Amino acid sequence: IQLNNHNLGKLTDDVANPSYVAKPSYDRKTLTPGIVHIGVGGFHRAHQAMYLDALMNQGEALDWGIVGVGVMPDDKRMQQALAAQDYLYTLVVKHPDGQYEPRVIGSMVNYLFAPEETEAVIEQMADSAIRIVSLTVTEGGYNFHPVSGEFDLDNPQVRADLANPTQPSTSFGLVVEALALRRARGIAPFTVMSCDNIQGNGDVAKRMFGAYAQARDAELGAWLQAEVAFPNAMVDRITPVTSPNDIDELAQRFGVEDAWPVVCEPFTQWVLEDHFPLGCPAFDKVGVQVVEDVEPYELMKLRLLNASHQALTYFGYLAGYRYAHEVCQDSLFVDFLLGYMREEGTPTLAPVPGVDLESYRLTLIERFANPQIKDTLARLCAESSDRIPKWLVPVIRQQLAQGGEIKRSAAVVASWARYAEGVDEQGEPIEIVDRLKAPLTAIAAENRSRPTAFIENRELFGDLIDSPRFVEAYVETLSSLHERGARATLEGLVSSKG
Ligand code: NAD
Repeated sequence: IQLNNHNLGKLTDDVANPSYVAKPSYDRKTLTPGIVHIGVGGFHRAHQAMYLDALMNQGEALDWGIVGVGVMPDDKRMQQALAAQDYLYTLVVKHPDGQYEPRVIGSMVNYLFAPEETEAVIEQMADSAIRIVSLTVTEGGYNFHPVSGEFDLDNPQVRADLANPTQPSTSFGLVVEALALRRARGIAPFTVMSCDNIQGNGDVAKRMFGAYAQARDAELGAWLQAEVAFPNAMVDRITPVTSPNDIDELAQRFGVEDAWPVVCEPFTQWVLEDHFPLGCPAFDKVGVQVVEDVEPYELMKLRLLNASHQALTYFGYLAGYRYAHEVCQDSLFVDFLLGYMREEGTPTLAPVPGVDLESYRLTLIERFANPQIKDTLARLCAESSDRIPKWLVPVIRQQLAQGGEIKRSAAVVASWARYAEGVDEQGEPIEIVDRLKAPLTAIAAENRSRPTAFIENRELFGDLIDSPRFVEAYVETLSSLHERGARATLEGLVSSKG
């Protein structure tokens, strides 16, 4: 069955049928646009659009239909795929036991490709019915300088937009032009809702869109800073890139011809700051946590989920594994991860309202162990020099300051140092992907002759080198990794007290 509005009726309503696919229970003809979303990739379609579809299935939010917008040249493919199927697509939830749960999502009502329809995109956002402009444009989409963190005014596309603000090509140019039109027409500004994986994503978006507006016109910049809301959000759902195999499997197992379905894990979470002057769909009715302050949830995610990825990946790779689920099906590693989370990560967190941290920790292990997701250790080992300092070093510093345990965190740093030597325990070369690859591998080459060489780097580790307790734990693990290997080292860490 080719997926489109007309064919929805041909999908079986019998839930017991093995080819059952859930579909919208609302009449899509009654939907009207309320949200413009820039960056319709896999994640938006597995997350925000799914939450809206769930609300619409309850008969709510029918005036919050999504108009997708593509800004990048490659987004033409998404426009063509979605337009050919009336903006419907299938979301396939992959359970660890191999069960697939497909569902047709109907919350998107249109898709505009900005390079060909610039004016239509701006007018759509300027329309008073639009109350939210949301974004999943990746970290790169915020145009901040990698070192200073400031908006990069030297970006040629940004410069072109500033020179010709009514014909913009970037999301900054498009959004700010639409806001300027609304202001001139006396229409209150929409809320800009970032759903990217960036700490303080709303605050970052406000600084970046604000900097663009300021450069365009100081008065407009001041108005934006004062009047436009940028709520923060923590988002979580592992959504890998759709593979050709996913498309074939959907057709074969469920009979649905969908040019671009989305696949994801069962888990999903969205913690959203309650800051929407023009209102917001009743997301709390479909499991979204709408809160005053997102930060405790962000720290929980960074220090438990993201830091645990680091805790499993170098040890796992050195021990011969290549996928996250393999590591998390090994009880030795699970003991180590739970030990890190319980004894070291969690004591650095402020209370997280409404979350049972023990069940959060256990759910993480289950999620990591899902063999359907096929998350590679190569992906998790990449760009360590951006990740360890952001996710793990703050845990170590705080634990040192409060007299808490640090031996597992120190061991994770040592496992990275050993990995950075570029040769695994079988003598095979490791392909290191890191913007600091050259200096890091050079320093790691000194690990055996000068065991503290790696952690002397203050840009990455701050003053950790000045803490005898940290240095001792680190050096002990590093030498154990050299002498006994990853597995025996973990056995020692798991069996010793503390
Ligand atoms: P994707 O590659 O499927 O989609 C990315 C979208 O962003 C595309 O539409 C692309 O055109 C657009 N984009 C990229 N650079 C842009 C720019 N400079 N300006 C405007 N648009 C731009 O990726 P995805 O899986 O949908 O992930 C997108 C983002 O969602 C991630 O970077 C992350 O911040 C967040 N996220 C993803 C996951 C996940 O598991 N995939 C989980 C949580 C959060």
